[in-house]
Amino acid sequence: MRPTPKPSPIERLKAISARLYWCPRCNVPLLEKKCGICKGDAITVRVTPPGDVRPAFTGDLKRLRKALSDYFVDDSCIEKFLPRRKIVLLNKIQYPDAADEVIVDGQVLGHLFYDLLKGRWRFKPLYAGVALILEERLPPFAVVDLPTITRNYEIKRSRIVKGEVVWEKGRFVAVELKNHTMQAVAEVIRGKRLRVVKAWPWRRYLRLRGTPSWVDVVKANAHRIKRLEKESVDFIRKLVSEYRLPLIVSFSGGKDSLVTYRLAVKALGSKPPLLFNDTGLELPETVNYVKRFARCENTHLILADAGDAFWRGLKALGPPARDYRWCCKVSKLTPIAIAIKKKFPQGALSLVGQRKYESALRAVSPRVWRNPWIPGTVSATPIQDWTALDVWLYIMRERLPPNPLYYMGFDRLGCWLCPASEMGEFETVKEVHPELWSVWERFLERFSESRGYPSVWVRLGLWRWLRPPGDIKRLAERLGEVLLYDEKRSVSLTTKREDGEMVVEVPVGLKEVEKRVLSLAPIIKDVDVTVEEGRIRFKGLTNESVARALVLRSLFCVGCKACEAKCPLGAIKVKDYPKVDPIKCNACLTCNSACPLVVFSLRGARRAPKLPRDET
Ligand code: SF4
Ligand code: SF4
Ligand SMILES: [Zn+2]
Repeated sequence: MRPTPKPSPIERLKAISARLYWCPRCNVPLLEKKCGICKGDAITVRVTPPGDVRPAFTGDLKRLRKALSDYFVDDSCIEKFLPRRKIVLLNKIQYPDAADEVIVDGQVLGHLFYDLLKGRWRFKPLYAGVALILEERLPPFAVVDLPTITRNYEIKRSRIVKGEVVWEKGRFVAVELKNHTMQAVAEVIRGKRLRVVKAWPWRRYLRLRGTPSWVDVVKANAHRIKRLEKESVDFIRKLVSEYRLPLIVSFSGGKDSLVTYRLAVKALGSKPPLLFNDTGLELPETVNYVKRFARCENTHLILADAGDAFWRGLKALGPPARDYRWCCKVSKLTPIAIAIKKKFPQGALSLVGQRKYESALRAVSPRVWRNPWIPGTVSATPIQDWTALDVWLYIMRERLPPNPLYYMGFDRLGCWLCPASEMGEFETVKEVHPELWSVWERFLERFSESRGYPSVWVRLGLWRWLRPPGDIKRLAERLGEVLLYDEKRSVSLTTKREDGEMVVEVPVGLKEVEKRVLSLAPIIKDVDVTVEEGRIRFKGLTNESVARALVLRSLFCVGCKACEAKCPLGAIKVKDYPKVDPIKCNACLTCNSACPLVVFSLRGARRAPKLPRDET
C-alpha cells in the first residue's frame, strides 16, 4: 500500500480553519453562530484559511486609508467606501509579501497588500468592495458592454460605456458588465486596456446599519470567551498537578503571552514569574512595556539577555535568513536555556502563548512539548485553540494593557529585523524607528556590495533567504535580475596542509589572535598550536573541521555561552571569548557541537539543524 502523502502547509491550515460569522442585526463579528446580544443566528463570512482574523487598530487603519487614497481618484470616496467608526477586521493571507483581507459589515471589501515592486501598500477591491464601488459610483470604475468576462480577458477602452479610469499602468479598477451578470477587478495595462484579474457573478453590497463598538463585540462573543477561558484555566491546573515543576510564563511582550499570563493567574490564584528574553533586537517599546507590566503586576521578572550576540554573530555568519536561522540559536534559545538553568536547575514548566492558527507548523504542534535546546523544561500552550480575535476580545474583556506597538501598525512583535518578516512589516519598523532601520539597511548594502550581489538583494529583501522561493525569484526576474550568487555568507577560512601540518589561514588585522586561540586550544590534546600573522598552524592534528572550529570559535566568538552551558565538566568560561581550563577539560569536543558558529558555518546551512519553535 502506498503511504498517504503528507498534507501541504496550505492543506494543514485549511484543515484547522477558524469560522467567522456576523450578526446582521447587531452588525458585529462572531466566532460562533449565535449572537450574544440579540440571541439570533448569524451569517457566515467566507474568509481565506486559516481565518485568524484580528481587529484593525489605529496604525492598520492609517495604512488602509493611505492605500485607499492611492486607489481612489478622489479622497472624498474613502469615507463613502469605509466610513469611520466601522468595525474593521483583517485576515492575513498568502501573497508574495504581507497581505490582509479587509472585512467590514461581514463582507470582504478587498485585499490590503504590500506591493514589493512598487515598494508601497496598496488596495485591491474584491467581491463586496467592488459591488459597493459600483453602487456608489466611486471612481475608478468601469461598466463594460460585453456578454461575459473571464480572468486575463483584455477589455478595450471602447467597451467601457460608463465610468472613470485613470490610465496609469498597474492601477486596479472595479468592473461590472452592463447586463448585470458579472463583476470583476481589472488592472490597467498598456494601450489603454484593462486586463481582468479576477471575475465572479454579479452581486449587491449588503448594507448593515449601526456602528457598534468593541464593547458590543465582546458582549456578542461573551459566551465563547468564557468557555475558552474555563478550558484553558482547567488545562493549566491539570498541568501543574501533573508535572509538579515551578511554573513560569514565557513573556514576549506580545498579546498571546499577555493572555497566557492572565490565565495562569486565574488558574493558580497567584502571580507566576515572567521570563522575558531580550534578544538585543527588541524594539524599545517592548522592553519598556515588559518592565512596566511586571512592575505594575508586582510579579518577578526573570530577564534572559542575549546582549550584542546577534551583532557579533553577523561578522562571522553574515545576515541570518529563513533557511539560515543562526540568530534564533544565538539570541533566543541559548539565553533562555541559560536563564532557566540558572534559576530552575531542577527544571520548570513554561507556559507559552502559542496558537495553532499562527502557522502550518503550529497547526500540527502538540499542546505540551519538550524542547531539546532548553533541557529540563516542559513547555505548554494553554491557548492552542484561540484565534487572534479571541485573544483580543479577552484582552478587552479583562482590560489588560497590550504592548503599544499594536496600535502603531505592528501585528507581530519580536526581533525587529527578523528574516521571517515581510517587507511590508519592515515598512512599519522604518516608520516608527528609522534610526534602527538605517543601521540595518547600511549593513545589508555594504554586505551586498562586498559580495557583488544584484541590486534587488536589498530592495526585494532577498537577504531573507539563502535560496529564495519561486515567486520572489520571478519578481526579481521581472526587474531583469538573474539570481545567481554564492549562498555562503559566513567568514571564509582556508585550510592547507604544509609539511604534514595543518594550516588555517585567517583574515589579517584581527586582534589578540594568539591569546584567544591558545585559550581554547586545550580542547585538542597533544596538538602543538602556533600562531603566525594570518595563519594558525596545528602540528599533530589531522581533523580539518576541528581545526577550523577552533579558529572560528576563538576569533569570532559571539559570547552566547552555549558552549559553557553544554560542557559536562564545567571546564569552559566565556568572557568575550572561550577560555578552557586544561586540567578540567577531557577534550570531548561537546562544546564544538554546541557552538552556533560551528553548526551554521562549518557544516553549511543545508545541513544545519532545524531549530525548534521559539519559546518567547
Ligand atoms: S565540552 Fe569537552 S572539550 Fe569542551 S571544554 Fe568541556 S570538557 Fe573540554
Ligand atoms: S565559542 Fe561558546 S560563547 Fe562563543 S559563540 Fe561559540 S558557543 Fe557561543
Ligand atoms: Zn445580534
